[in-house]
Amino acid sequence: MDVRVAIIGAGPSAFYGAAALLASKDHSVKVDMFDRLAAPFGLVRYGVAPDHPRIKSVTTLYEKTAADARFRFFGAVDFGRDLKLADLESAYDMILFCSGAQSDRSLGIPGEDLQGSMSATEFVAWYNGHPDYENLNPNLDIEGVVVVGVGNVAMDVARILAKSPQELATTDIADHALAALSKSRVKDIYVLGRRGPAQAKFTNPEIKEFGHLAVADPVVRAAELELDPQSAAECETDRLMKQNVEILASYIDRGQGSKQRRVHFRFLVSPVEITGRGKVEQVKIEQNKLEAGNAVGTGEFETVQAGMVLRSVGYKGVPLADVPFDGKKAIIPNAGGRVTKTAGGEVVPGLYVAGWAKRGPTGVIGTNKKDAEETVALMLQDVGKRKSASGADVAKLLQQRGVKFVNWQDWKKIDAAEIEKGNAQNRPRVKLVGIDEMRAVL
Ligand code: NAP
Repeated sequence: MDVRVAIIGAGPSAFYGAAALLASKDHSVKVDMFDRLAAPFGLVRYGVAPDHPRIKSVTTLYEKTAADARFRFFGAVDFGRDLKLADLESAYDMILFCSGAQSDRSLGIPGEDLQGSMSATEFVAWYNGHPDYENLNPNLDIEGVVVVGVGNVAMDVARILAKSPQELATTDIADHALAALSKSRVKDIYVLGRRGPAQAKFTNPEIKEFGHLAVADPVVRAAELELDPQSAAECETDRLMKQNVEILASYIDRGQGSKQRRVHFRFLVSPVEITGRGKVEQVKIEQNKLEAGNAVGTGEFETVQAGMVLRSVGYKGVPLADVPFDGKKAIIPNAGGRVTKTAGGEVVPGLYVAGWAKRGPTGVIGTNKKDAEETVALMLQDVGKRKSASGADVAKLLQQRGVKFVNWQDWKKIDAAEIEKGNAQNRPRVKLVGIDEMRAVL
């Protein structure tokens, strides 16, 4: 049977979903993919750290999917503004939401709104050339930075801040970020884990990288690496957890760090207040103890001098116009990928979800493959249950509305221009940031 599918979002789950749909042997599926931004690849382009190019090479797979004649890309199309749910429901048999988690969680502590306090996700988007954050202008004329949280995003921002301009200059980091980071006066980066080292969410390669930086040393406190009996027992059965603790322990020998920068990994501490005269100057932190695996404050405090706070405590989904949203979990409510009206509620025919919008912001890029395939399996089971009313071509509708979308051929021209600019500088690419810059190439 012929099936017309619209996918909202062009990140990893969108491309894995498209690949699985186009691979169907039972049905002839056509996929139109829409993204608010002109460039595809979502978190691979705007989230993955610029100094981790290998992770980005996954886009070669996505390119293969995009080369299928039954695939079309519509970049620079805002769902909710340029296209409403009703437009898509009328033109497509099925709609798959792969909109990710575009916001972040807050700490809920006093001073969080001071200048210099921001989410790691904003900082990441800034150095990766996301057009919405081009003008973030973080002040790096400071010596101390506090990063709250010990997940892989915290590792990314701490590492980018710790690297020398030479280490960053061969990456595809945004030019504005390279210029700003080259002038950075940052000396001490404090990464705060509210629980112990065994509970850290970062993975082994990420924490290991801090042992090999050109101008920064990792610093740990032996006392904070001591494990309580429960964590010690967990380490015996969890090899990756044990390795994290061992890598951290190997940093004890580094002393206080002799290089120009230091990355302090602190554990069993929580920020309780950010203070300063109109901007971040100090962060008050409380020491914690572990009780049944949870962090509990001890009432003992200390103050860290810092001009910037990056909260890296997780991404958060945002609602899409007219699409059900579970505010508690910050996801689109669903049953295995079929969108439901409410959490645990009735299924909405024709609507599906995959990736972070479905399960929340967890897992690595590849996790989205299995996730999207699970949703697509249900979509293929549901073929024929709902047919589009008009089957109209959305390309025409967008043209009538004066929406200047970017198609795949356009993107390939932008891509080629970025790569060509990069070749001249021994970099994988030089990113074009704003839509006007991209349109100039076209
Ligand atoms: P994450 O892995 O969930 O880590 C969040 C961190 O924030 C945890 O350490 C958590 O501690 C802490 N936290 C949460 N609320 C807090 C609070 N109120 N106060 C203090 N700390 C708090 O999230 P993420 O780092 O944003 O990463 C998202 C996903 O992307 C993860 O699956 C990650 O592995 C993936 N990712 C992978 C890579 C890579 O492969 N290189 C790079 C970037 C991101 P608790 O554990 O105590 O809650």
